[in-house]
Amino acid sequence: MPLHVHQHPLAAHIITHLRDKTTKPATFRTLAYQLSLLLAIEATSEIETVEKQIETPLEAVTGRVLAHQPLVVVPILRAGLGMLQPFTDLFPDVSVGYIGLERDHDTALARSYYCKLPPLKNTRVLLVDPMLATGGSAVKALDVIFGRGATEVDLLNIVAAPEGVAIVEKHYPAIRIFSGALDRELNAKKYILPGLGDFGDRLYGT
Ligand code: URA
Repeated sequence: MPLHVHQHPLAAHIITHLRDKTTKPATFRTLAYQLSLLLAIEATSEIETVEKQIETPLEAVTGRVLAHQPLVVVPILRAGLGMLQPFTDLFPDVSVGYIGLERDHDTALARSYYCKLPPLKNTRVLLVDPMLATGGSAVKALDVIFGRGATEVDLLNIVAAPEGVAIVEKHYPAIRIFSGALDRELNAKKYILPGLGDFGDRLYGT
């Protein structure tokens, strides 16, 4: 199973407040930041480090610092922007790419309307998309990212639906998915249940 549901009790606490319809956008943004921070830490727990000799004020010591494996975070616009900041806070050298996707009215398929990505060969890519619902956007974004030469990609979501996880797993069986919660199902309008509503709207108060 490529899905890793975050187990820290804080994640459940944060998600409950994100789900609450009375939570206002300013608090929602803070909670989204906090959960994304937990996910960022979990997804990078095996990140490479190298030895570094330094001197404390008292003596010389061999410490460890991040190895120079370029890290790229890619939010799917617009809701993915709500998960971006923890990555730029934690990883000083991270590059940021953007993929804008919208649903084609005729085909109901995700279509890319904007794409700005740094070189992806030999990088580690973290694709962030808060709601893994049908999986259509995630698969489309993964097509674009792998098409640009990426080989190591993780997908991070606040909430995932079983339908979305299954679609991503079918197209990209080797992908790891890090999620704050695995919800029950999609409704007829493809919203996640119980979910938290439209993530972008809740984030920006639209
Ligand atoms: N996107 C959202 O913002 N919410 C859902 O429930 C599904 C997709």
